[in-house]
Amino acid sequence: MKLLECLKRAFIVRKCIICDDAISYNIKLPICDECHKYWVSTLDILCDKCGYESEYCTCASKRMLIGVDFVTFCIFYKSNSENPVNHIVYKLKEEYIGEVFNFCADLMAAKAKKMFAKRNLSFNDYIVVYPKRRKKAILKYGYDHGREVARLFAKKLGLSYMDCFDNSGKKEQKTLDRRERYANAKQSYSLKKNIDVKDKKFIIIDDVLTTGSTISACSTLLKEKGAKSVVAVCFAKDI
Ligand SMILES: [Zn+2]
Ligand SMILES: [Zn+2]
Repeated sequence: MKLLECLKRAFIVRKCIICDDAISYNIKLPICDECHKYWVSTLDILCDKCGYESEYCTCASKRMLIGVDFVTFCIFYKSNSENPVNHIVYKLKEEYIGEVFNFCADLMAAKAKKMFAKRNLSFNDYIVVYPKRRKKAILKYGYDHGREVARLFAKKLGLSYMDCFDNSGKKEQKTLDRRERYANAKQSYSLKKNIDVKDKKFIIIDDVLTTGSTISACSTLLKEKGAKSVVAVCFAKDI
């Protein structure tokens, strides 16, 4: 075991990513037994559109997605409700916890592999990108969770990763109604200067798929500059 890992285990208590209770370093998932039952039960939530579980649901978002070849996600998310997925999404955005990033990236990589295989497509030549967090949020929390998850996701699939978007947005997407979201996303995101995306293929990584406005705005930017394919992989989908 690496020295750093030994020191970490000796001095830092490993916590369940849902309830914060102390857990053993010997268990694989960073979730306690009690929360694990709770987490597994969320896998049974059915899609309100197609009636399938998250594992089989291929519905996109509540709106049409623009410029994306396909979108996939790992689990359903219900905002404003007591749900283990909400705890994980909250931690992802507000607390810098490596195990949370890793947990999400693991699930997303497994789902992406499955979705590419289902379509008989290879993901080997895809580049991983992410919608940059607003400057104000990066200053407030000190990190960009999208970047952390995108880098881990790329590493797990052996793909390259690119930091290609800027975000000049002033408003938080979740504070806006559906109609305002796309306009806000379109105004907020831009491609960084001197980034060549022509004929390249991209996987956009995002945390929560709500209206799909962020993904639509980012994939439109890539496609306008000649990107060959854009797909999106999200952690959770709001239903
Ligand atoms: Zn727990
Ligand atoms: Zn569905």
